[in-house]
Amino acid sequence: MNILAIESSCDETSAAVLVNGHILSNVIATQLIHEQYGGVVPELASRAHQQHILPVVERALADANLPKSELSAIAFTRGPGLLGSLLVGTSFAKAMALGLNIPLIEVNHMQAHVLAHFIETRQPTFPFLCLTVSGGHTQIVRIDAPLDMRVMGQTLDDAVGEAFDKSAKLLGLPYPGGPLIDKYAKEGNPLAYKFPMSEMPNLDFSFSGIKTAIMYFLRDNMRTNPEFINQHLADICASIQHTLVQMLLAKLKRAARETGITEIAVAGGVSANSGLRTALTKLGEEQGWNIYIPKFEYCTDNAAMIAMAAKFKYEQGDFTPQTVSPLPRMSM
Ligand code: ATP
Ligand code: MG
Ligand code: FE
Repeated sequence: MNILAIESSCDETSAAVLVNGHILSNVIATQLIHEQYGGVVPELASRAHQQHILPVVERALADANLPKSELSAIAFTRGPGLLGSLLVGTSFAKAMALGLNIPLIEVNHMQAHVLAHFIETRQPTFPFLCLTVSGGHTQIVRIDAPLDMRVMGQTLDDAVGEAFDKSAKLLGLPYPGGPLIDKYAKEGNPLAYKFPMSEMPNLDFSFSGIKTAIMYFLRDNMRTNPEFINQHLADICASIQHTLVQMLLAKLKRAARETGITEIAVAGGVSANSGLRTALTKLGEEQGWNIYIPKFEYCTDNAAMIAMAAKFKYEQGDFTPQTVSPLPRMSM
């Protein structure tokens, strides 16, 4: 089984080749154009996808050393994501599958983030829990089989990646600010400042309160000391990161307790955060969990995870008709 997978849900154009269950290439073109606007501009994202998609796909096939005549299926992200971005990948995949006369496989981007764990040699056993934390989502998912997963709790407002990025923006850092908060946090004291953690009764999350609290905290301190951010950047970043990570882990602990599941995974762009990785590893040791954390390149958006999800669908003969169109709000 040789699958070419395409990911174009947001601002990364990516293509990957999977041969007999193994990823042979994973090419990612990140769109830098959005940095100057402080966030992803949908219209610019779809244009950039249009420019990148052909070279990215050709590169992925070349890196895998696989002629396209040997492909067995084309997979693509159907949603969730930005409509214009999804359209580029979807249309490209449809055309290519039609041209090669091979099946098409649609993939749910959030399922794929979870299934990224099966790219690695050390894989979680079923059932497992996955904390999926990204730019648009924050979910606790229970996975009973590769294509049998259920969201147990999720954010009711902002995603945690958004909380990282918006906090960074308040600090005057460029987009996407999540990785920069991570970087500065390494030099800071995580207990320097306290921010209120919102208390949701179940397994759901809320991150809009902490964002507002950070905004007022910075405004008040900058009023008395205009150099406050510059002088205390590391401590502020460390404290914000610590608070967000604690909010995530509190719910994960609760989900593990309620289900009795001890196979625990994390996925999505924010799982690249070193504070989260360290804290989760430590919590896992305390709780006797087996922890699964993807390699960095499989945390943020990539087509390798789309290929892996497609592999499971291919095995079940779950193909997609040519009439398919993207679903920007596709649910699990
Ligand atoms: P979704 O998957 O929900 O559609 P997305 O695809 O935009 O959203 P990802 O690419 O999975 O999200 O993740 C991007 C997010 O991850 C951004 O918010 C980014 O700031 C955040 N992120 C990446 N690296 C780090 C890091 N080291 N620390 C904190 N946040 C990070
Ligand atoms: Mg992205
Ligand atoms: Fe994503």
